[in-house]
Amino acid sequence: MNINLLDTTQLEQLRTLLQTSQHIVICAHKSPDGDAVGSTLAWKSYLKQIGKDDVKVCLPDAYPDFLQWLPGTNEIIRHDKRPAEVKQAFDNADLVCCLDFNQNSRVEDMLPLLEGCKAKRLLIDHHLDPDTNNELTISNTEMSSTSEIVFRLIAQLDGYEQMGKDCAQCIYCGMMTDTGGFTYNSTRPEIYYIISLLLQKRIDKDKIYNRVYHNYSANAIKLRGHIIYNKLQVIDELHAAYFTVTKAEMQRFHFIKGDMEGVVNIPQQIKGLKLSISLREDTERPNLVLVSLRSGNGFHCQPMAVKFFNGGGHADASGGKLHCSIEEAEQITLRAIMAFKDELR
Ligand code: 5GP
Ligand code: MN
Repeated sequence: MNINLLDTTQLEQLRTLLQTSQHIVICAHKSPDGDAVGSTLAWKSYLKQIGKDDVKVCLPDAYPDFLQWLPGTNEIIRHDKRPAEVKQAFDNADLVCCLDFNQNSRVEDMLPLLEGCKAKRLLIDHHLDPDTNNELTISNTEMSSTSEIVFRLIAQLDGYEQMGKDCAQCIYCGMMTDTGGFTYNSTRPEIYYIISLLLQKRIDKDKIYNRVYHNYSANAIKLRGHIIYNKLQVIDELHAAYFTVTKAEMQRFHFIKGDMEGVVNIPQQIKGLKLSISLREDTERPNLVLVSLRSGNGFHCQPMAVKFFNGGGHADASGGKLHCSIEEAEQITLRAIMAFKDELR
């Protein structure tokens, strides 16, 4: 099965870019998810494999607790914890690899470092509307995940034979989390061909599933129950559902990063539902509401994320944020749903 992504020109560009770079920073978006962490660690592993000594993964802030087991997380440099080290890494870099985000602004507090640094930029991503102001842009929105792209690049660069189990685990984790355990964006046969190649590196896919999806505290499960039972609003005639979660509610259930992961997908289990929206207060910054959108049954949420929630993402899985109170965010959400009522009905 042919899993090559690059044409010969792009492949040569990528080879040259890697050959001519010695000090490499790999970064991903704020609140990095399984794909962001998996793809950056896998790409680092490959760059080490081809002899690059100075490769640093720099992330804006914390990743969820359920990713802590991924091989290599101990060497991640967090900008919110160690800003001086991250600044030095960007200052010294001759190549910055931007993984799993389409617009520079998605690195948030790291933006001045990313835009101010003199290094060449390589973008590897699968979101809609990529920023193309890079030395090389490898963007493919048909891919399940950035991790899948990274695998295909490594294979096309003849790195599969030498790939180790650690790298394979990171790639599998990214592909699995970005497809909800292979339940969406995961119908193309190439995905399962790639999984078969990863299994040959002796990864234990069932163990990876357990580590990621069976890692919650009892409180986190109770928070889900509270949201679904007490907070879910369903607008039957528009096949839409949303819920709000306040900081106080999260504190009541001893919220830690990752506890809200996937909650927005739960209402999609309602027969015929087209749109699910999660509105949650940021735990650190006041007057900031984090928005997650999911869609299905023929409706696509990405335009709504762009138009109403200062965001974007994928056709059926988008995100954004609102600088307002949770009550105002709810009003904006109702307006957004009404604005798309003809498509939702
Ligand atoms: P989630 O709801 O899981 O946080 O995000 C869903 C998708 O939307 C992810 O692919 C994510 O990268 C994208 N996304 C989340 N927040 C934002 C945002 O603020 N801006 C943009 N452009 N995309 C976002
Ligand atoms: Mn992704």
